[in-house]
Amino acid sequence: MIVKDRLYINSINRFQIVDITPYINEKIKKSQIYSGIINVFTKHTTSAIIINENEKGLQTDIFNILYDLIPDGNRYSHDMIDHNAGSHLRSLFLGPSETIPIYEGSLDLGRWQSVFFIELDGPRSRRQVDLTIMGD
Ligand code: ZN
Repeated sequence: MIVKDRLYINSINRFQIVDITPYINEKIKKSQIYSGIINVFTKHTTSAIIINENEKGLQTDIFNILYDLIPDGNRYSHDMIDHNAGSHLRSLFLGPSETIPIYEGSLDLGRWQSVFFIELDGPRSRRQVDLTIMGD
């Protein structure tokens, strides 16, 4: 069986890390799929989906390394169009999706793993994250 669902995320900062693990688990429960896999996919080119540890210092480190690697105002060509080249380029390093096993009706994550939506060009309303849940 395949179940399609989605999350909508409202961000309040330019850069923001949102732990979406509990919302995904709610959607898996609703799907009634007990065993399988889920694909979590952001529909935006200035956001990302990653898996990592939910620890405040690490979130600061992620922000710092992304901005060290890709500073704003670096004469990017895309800035001629809508002034957010840095946001697109940071998303390039993180990627738009993750695929995660489902076991016993919830995400089968490691002890320190959480699923994050990364806002790279906020604040924005109704950022769409698609969930494709496959299994039985
Ligand atoms: Zn753009």
